[in-house]
Amino acid sequence: MAYEALLTPPASSWLRQAAQGAAGLLYPPHCMACGHPLEVAGNGALCAGCARLVPWIGPDRCRRCGDAVGQGMGVQESCPSCETHPPVFVKAVCAIAEYREPLRALILGVKFARTLQAVPLLAELLAQRVRDTRLLDGFPAEKAVLAPVPMHGREFAVRGFNQAEEVAALAAKHLKVACSRGLLRKVRATRPQATLGHEARRTNLKDAFAPGRKAARWADGCVILVDDVMTTGSTAGECARTLYAQGVKDIRLAVLARG
Ligand SMILES: [Zn+2]
Ligand SMILES: [Zn+2]
Repeated sequence: MAYEALLTPPASSWLRQAAQGAAGLLYPPHCMACGHPLEVAGNGALCAGCARLVPWIGPDRCRRCGDAVGQGMGVQESCPSCETHPPVFVKAVCAIAEYREPLRALILGVKFARTLQAVPLLAELLAQRVRDTRLLDGFPAEKAVLAPVPMHGREFAVRGFNQAEEVAALAAKHLKVACSRGLLRKVRATRPQATLGHEARRTNLKDAFAPGRKAARWADGCVILVDDVMTTGSTAGECARTLYAQGVKDIRLAVLARG
C-alpha cells in the first residue's frame, strides 16, 4: 500500500514546520512510538523503523462494516455478517489500521499527552484511506461533509481540544470537502466505552447525542462521521441514529483505527 505520507512530510506541513522550526532547535521532535529523534525530512510523528510496523488495514474488506473478508478478495460490497445483521444506520466504514502499535501510540499521544504532533500525519493518512476505499462514492465533493464525533463540554474542558475535530478539519482540506462541528452535539457526559462490556456500552450512550443546528442542511448529502477508534461501533451507531432521525439518509464512517 502506497502511504507516501509516512515517508515524506505531509503536503500541508510547511506552516507547521515553520512554526515548529524555532522550537525544534531547542526540543527536536521525537518518534511518538519509540522516542528516537525524528529524521528531518520525516513525517513529523513516527520514525522510519516504526512507520514500517503500522498494522495497515488492507483492501480485502467489506465496505459496509469494514470487517476483513478472504485474502485477495479485494473490496466487497457486503459480507456474510452484514447479510444476517446489516448495519442499520452506517452505510460504509473505512479505517487506516488496526488499533495496535505504533498507531496506538499516535492516537493516545494526541488524546492524553495533549500533543497535536501526530495530527497532520493522521489526517493525511485518513484522507488517503477515504480515497482508496472510495468512501465518498456517489456524491460530488460539495455534497459531502466530515462530521467529527463530538465531546461533551465537560470532557472538552478537561482536554482542551477534540482530537476527532482536529483530524477531521485537516482531512477535509485534503479531500476538498466541508467539515462541520454543527451536525451533532454531545449532551451528556459518558463513561469511556473501552472500560465497559457490550451491553453497558449501549446504555452508556443512550441519549448522549443530539442533533446540531446544521444536521437538517445535510439531509441530501453524504455525512462522514470521523472518530479515532472503532471497537464495537456503538458510538458511531448512536451518532448515525441521531442524524438519521433528522432526515440524513447517507451516513458513513471514517476512523483512524479499528480495535
Ligand atoms: Zn520510532
Ligand atoms: Zn460487512
